[in-house]
Amino acid sequence: MQNWKVLSKNALTHDVFELKLERPAGSLPFRAGQYMSIVIPGAGPGGRNLRRAYSIASPPESAEIELCVKLVDSGPGTHYLNSLKVGDRFQAQFPFGDFCLAHDQSHPALFIGTGTGIAPLRAMVLAKEWQPKAPMGFLLGVRTEEDILYPELFPEMKISGRAAAFSEGHQHVKICLSRPKGEWRGFRGRVTDYLRALDWDFARSNYYLCGSGAMLAEVKDFLKNTKGVAKSHIHAEKYF
Ligand SMILES: Cc1cc2nc3c(=O)[nH]c(=O)nc-3n(C[C@H](O)[C@H](O)[C@H](O)COP(=O)(O)OP(=O)(O)OC[C@H]3O[C@@H](n4cnc5c(N)ncnc54)[C@H](O)[C@@H]3O)c2cc1C
Repeated sequence: MQNWKVLSKNALTHDVFELKLERPAGSLPFRAGQYMSIVIPGAGPGGRNLRRAYSIASPPESAEIELCVKLVDSGPGTHYLNSLKVGDRFQAQFPFGDFCLAHDQSHPALFIGTGTGIAPLRAMVLAKEWQPKAPMGFLLGVRTEEDILYPELFPEMKISGRAAAFSEGHQHVKICLSRPKGEWRGFRGRVTDYLRALDWDFARSNYYLCGSGAMLAEVKDFLKNTKGVAKSHIHAEKYF
C-alpha cells in the first residue's frame, strides 16, 4: 500500500474531474492501460474500508499520474475522491490489470471508449509503446457536447490549431455524440452506429474497448457476429 499526494484537481466537464497525483518514491513502473486500487476509508458496511479501481489516464512516461473520475450520485468512492484537496494524501495500490497494448502494431487497431472509459485508451495512444504502422481509429462516445473529455485529442475540436500528434494521418479519431444539444457538425449517434457505417479492415484489426458493460456487450456482439472478428482480437475493460 502506498501513500499518494494530490497535486491538482480540475473539472474536465460538469461531472468529471481530473486528479493529478505525485508518484510516491520507489513506486513501481506501470503499463499504459493499467489501473490503481484506491482505499475509500470507512465507507463500507460497519465502517470498513472499500476499494475502487481507477484507470491511469496518463502515459507511463509522464512525471505525474492523472486520473479521470466521473462523479456518481451517492457513490462513496467518487465522493471521497471529489472531497480531496491539493496536498491531501490517500492510500492506494498500483499497478493492476492486463488491459494493455497486446497486438502486432503493423495491423490496424480501433480504440473505443465511452465516458471515462477514454482514460486507459488515452494512456495507450500517448505512450511511447504506441508506434503504429497501420491505420488506427479512436472513438469517444458521450451524450452531449458538455460531456466531451480531452477535446485536445480530437482534430474536429481544433484546439490549438493542430491535431494531437497521435491522430496525425488517421481519419477515424472522432467523437460520437448520442444526443447533441447544439449545431454539432461531428458524428451524431453512438459508437456502434459509427462502427456500422465504417469502412474498415475489421478482420485484421484489434479492438480496445472500455466503458460500461452494456457498451462492451453491444460492440462485441457486432464485431463477432456481424464482422466475424476473432475473440482474441478484442481487448476489453469493463467499468460497471
Ligand atoms: C478496472 C476499472 C477501472 C475503472 N476506472 C475508472 C476511471 O478511470 N474513472 C471512473 O470514473 N471510474 C472508473 N471505474 C469505476 C470505479 O471503480 C467506480 O465503480 C466508480 O467510480 C463508482 O464508484 P462509487 O463508489 O462512487 O459508486 P458506486 O456506488 O460503487 O457505483 C454506483 C453506480 O455508478 C455507475 N458507474 C460506475 N462507474 C461509472 C463511470 N465511470 N461512469 C458512469 N457511471 C458509472 C454504475 O452504474 C454503478 O453501479 C473503473 C472500474 C474498473 C473495474
